[in-house]
Amino acid sequence: MNKKNQKNRLIIVSNRLPIVLSQTDTGQWDVKQGSGGLVTALAPVLRDRGGLWIGWPGTSELIEKQDLETMFEQTVKDFGYTFEPVFLPANLVNDYYLGFSNQVLWPLFHDLQSRCDFAPAYWDAYQAVNKIFARTIARNIKDDDDHIWVHDYHLMGVGQELRKIKTTAKIGYFLHIPFPSLDLFLKLPWRFHILESLLCYDMIGFQTQRDRRNFVQCVHAMLPDIKIRGKGRVLSTKVNDHTVRMGNFPISIDYNEFAQKAATKEVEKRLAEIKEAFQADQLILGVDRLDYSKGIPERLLAFRNALERYPELEKKITLFQIVVPSRQRIEQYDNLKNEIEQLVSEINGRFTRPGWVPIHYIYQSVDRTELLALYRAADIGLVTPLKDGMNLVAKEYCASHIDDNGVLILSEFAGAASQLHKHALLVNPYDIQAIADAIYYACRMGTKERKTRMKALRKIVKKSDIYWWVDEFLTAVFSHNLNTFRPMVDYIPSQDTVQE
Ligand code: UDP
Repeated sequence: MNKKNQKNRLIIVSNRLPIVLSQTDTGQWDVKQGSGGLVTALAPVLRDRGGLWIGWPGTSELIEKQDLETMFEQTVKDFGYTFEPVFLPANLVNDYYLGFSNQVLWPLFHDLQSRCDFAPAYWDAYQAVNKIFARTIARNIKDDDDHIWVHDYHLMGVGQELRKIKTTAKIGYFLHIPFPSLDLFLKLPWRFHILESLLCYDMIGFQTQRDRRNFVQCVHAMLPDIKIRGKGRVLSTKVNDHTVRMGNFPISIDYNEFAQKAATKEVEKRLAEIKEAFQADQLILGVDRLDYSKGIPERLLAFRNALERYPELEKKITLFQIVVPSRQRIEQYDNLKNEIEQLVSEINGRFTRPGWVPIHYIYQSVDRTELLALYRAADIGLVTPLKDGMNLVAKEYCASHIDDNGVLILSEFAGAASQLHKHALLVNPYDIQAIADAIYYACRMGTKERKTRMKALRKIVKKSDIYWWVDEFLTAVFSHNLNTFRPMVDYIPSQDTVQE
C-alpha cells in the first residue's frame, strides 16, 4: 500500500480555484498555481495526503470544458495534486456571486447593513450554486475517509446540501470574514436557513473569539433547544445526534517568506529608490482592496485632520495609499472609487507645497517586490478597516519590517487586533480625531519604543503563521498531525535580529 492510500485524502473547496490561467502566443491555455498564503500552506498537505481542490475556475467560460479538464489532469504531475472545476451556469453567477455573496453576506457580516440588497433572486441563486458545489464534491469523494474542508461565505450551504444527499464524511468549514452580532444577523431574511446550514458541518471555524461568540449568541437566541457547551478555543453541541464543534482560528501569512524576501537585493534596491524619492520624514502606508469595509475615506479624513490640527506635520509626512481594484461590476464600488479620488484631490489641492505632495495614490495592484519595499520603507503602517475578518496587510507589514523600526496603527475592528492589540496603536476607525492623534503620536515615537513594539508584533506573527493555522484547524477537525509541513528555513536575513 503506498503512502497516500494510508491517509485520509483532503478535499479543499473554495469559491475560486487558486489558479492563474493564461493563454500562450499559440493560443494554448496554461495553468499556474496561485500565489496566496492559503494555497502555499495547503499545497504540501494536498501533495502528501492526496486529494484535490474543488472550485469555480472563474473566467474559464472562454475555455472549452474538455480542454480545462485535460489541463487539470496534467497538474497532478506539475503540482502533486489536482483541481476539479465547478462549472456554473452564466445566469446564476451574477446573482450568486455579485448578488448574494457580495451584496448580502459581505456587507451584513461587515456590519454595513445599509449597503445590503436583500433581493430574493440572489438567495435562489446562492442555494442553487451551493447545491452544484455539493454535487461536484459528492462525485469526487471516494468514501467516508475523505476529509472535506469548505471555505468562506460563498459556500455556507454546501454542508447541508451534502448531508441531504447522505454524505457522512467529516466536513470542516472556515469563515474568513467576521460573523455579525445577533441584532445584525436577525436582519437577514434567510437567517434560519443560514444558521441551520452552518450547523450541518462538523466544525465551524471563525477568525476570532468575538465572531465565535456572535455565532453562539445567534444560535442560543434563535434555536433555544440547542445548547452549546465547553470552555477554551473549541465549543460543541449536539444537533439531531450530530456533534457540531466551533472554534476560533486566526488566519495568518507565511511569515518566513515575507521576512526572507524583504531582505533580498531586489527589495533593498527598490527600497533605496523609494527612500530617495520621498523627502518627507515619515512615510505612512495604506494598502487595501477597493472596498467600503476598508475605511479608506475615513482614513483620508483622518490624515487631513492630522494636517489641520498639527501644522508642524507639514512637509514631514506623506501618505502612500495603494488601492487594488476589486468587484468592478458593482455600482457601490465605482462610487467609492470616486469618493476616494475626490478626497485625495481635495487634500492634495489644499496642502501640497513645492517639493511635497501629501498623498501619493495608486489605483492598481503592485508586484511583490514593490509591496515589500513599500512595507519596509513605511515608518507607519496605517490599517484602519471599519471591519475585517483578519487583515493580512497588518501581518505582512510586521513580517516585512525586518529592521523593527515601524509603527502599526490598527483598527480595533480588524480580526488581527485580537492578536496584535497590545503592541499596535489601536484606533476606532470611525474616530477621525483619534486616528489623527495616533498618526501624530507615531510620528514622534522614539526609536526604542518603535523597536520594542515591532519586535513584539513580529514575534506574534511568526509564532502563529499560516502553517500553524492549517495545522491547528486540521488537527482540531480531523485529528491530523501536520507539524512536519512547515518548510525548512534555510536563510535568515542578517537584519532579522529578533530573539524569538
Ligand atoms: N495585495 C495584492 N496586491 C497588491 C497589494 C496587496 O495581492 O497590489 C495582497 C496583500 O499582500 C494581502 C492581500 O492582498 O495578502 C489583502 O489581504 P487582506 O486580508 O488585507 O484583505 P482582503 O483583500 O483579503 O479583504
